[in-house]
Amino acid sequence: MGPGPSDVSARVLGAMARPTLGHLDPDFQRMMEEVKEGLKDLFQTKNRLTFPVSAPGSAGMETCFLNLVEEGDTVIVVRNGVFGDRMRENVVRAGGIAVLVDVEWGKAPDVAVIETVLNANPEAKIVAFVHAETSTGALADAAAICALAQKHNCLTIMDAVTSLGGVPVLIDEWGVDAVYSGSQKCLSCTPGLSPVSLSEKALDKIKARKTPVRSWFLDLSLVMNYWNGEGGRSYHHTAPVNALYGLHESLVILFEEGLGSAIARHKHMHEALVAGLESMGLKFLVDKSCRLPQLNAVVVPEGVDEASVRAHLLKAHSLEIGAGLGPMAGNVWRIGLMGASARRENVELCITALADALNRHQYKTDVTGALKAAHQVLDA
Ligand SMILES: *Cc1c(COP(=O)(O)O)cnc(C)c1O
Repeated sequence: MGPGPSDVSARVLGAMARPTLGHLDPDFQRMMEEVKEGLKDLFQTKNRLTFPVSAPGSAGMETCFLNLVEEGDTVIVVRNGVFGDRMRENVVRAGGIAVLVDVEWGKAPDVAVIETVLNANPEAKIVAFVHAETSTGALADAAAICALAQKHNCLTIMDAVTSLGGVPVLIDEWGVDAVYSGSQKCLSCTPGLSPVSLSEKALDKIKARKTPVRSWFLDLSLVMNYWNGEGGRSYHHTAPVNALYGLHESLVILFEEGLGSAIARHKHMHEALVAGLESMGLKFLVDKSCRLPQLNAVVVPEGVDEASVRAHLLKAHSLEIGAGLGPMAGNVWRIGLMGASARRENVELCITALADALNRHQYKTDVTGALKAAHQVLDA
């Protein structure tokens, strides 16, 4: 129950154990097309350029920035946690100029502040933001940020690594131009693949580039010779065949449940966890209005050694939760309820184990009362 990887089901692992086909085998190519269609449904987009990059979420991030940002481009980067800062890094390494909109960690970006920065930087070409900031558990208002970017003739790059599959991600409705995600968070697949999707406007900007993309491997104009399918595929790199079996199976599982039901389940499990932990006197870092269900940042009570609590959870209960990152280190625990991990038994385990660990760290809790509070939500 950390910030990813989430639990991977036996079905996904079983799919990955099947015999490895050639990366241009006709059966495998059919599966590639199904993966692309599944990802379109998941991103709720008609973007023809929708496929999984053969590497983890960070590679999806680099794909979007390296292809879209050209030497001298000004990019507005909204930074309210670790991943916003990585976006800044990416802009600079792509030769762009990053203009930061700094937001207090744990808070959602304020659209009015972004507008002020856009007004002060009329040459800006792109607005980049993190939809679900995994370092804090804050959800950004993607619809409002995209509408604002469009008003200022900017493209948008959105990080949906933690949001995809856990909260609504509406690429076409919001008008996101480039989005990247990861296989190991709410999709509950193994780490190592990064679904991305780019709009026609984004493709036009890439086509108009004066300089080649500064990465051979992530240059979309080359990668698409393999993923496109129209007019025949040719070798670019050897696709991670078995990893893609796993992603395919995780998409099948997700659509068997239904995307809407999966999103509702994340919310339900989150509310049960909140009821249990709040009854123990614990506080959440992020305000309810912008709190992610799949990433719960819980404030470490005064005087409690947070690392020692996590060590006890792992040793005595086989339960992993995450530590705080950057300025949040030592101050919060990050409890993931992602994908297959977002289930009743995990909510119960987390409450029981955390109550036990806290009782051993001079913070007295009533585990029976906490479980009762959680069950009131679970059984409602
Ligand atoms: C996990 C994560 C990433 C990076 O994904 P990797 O698969 O670890 O490379 C990027 N952005 C956010 C918001 C994340 O949570």
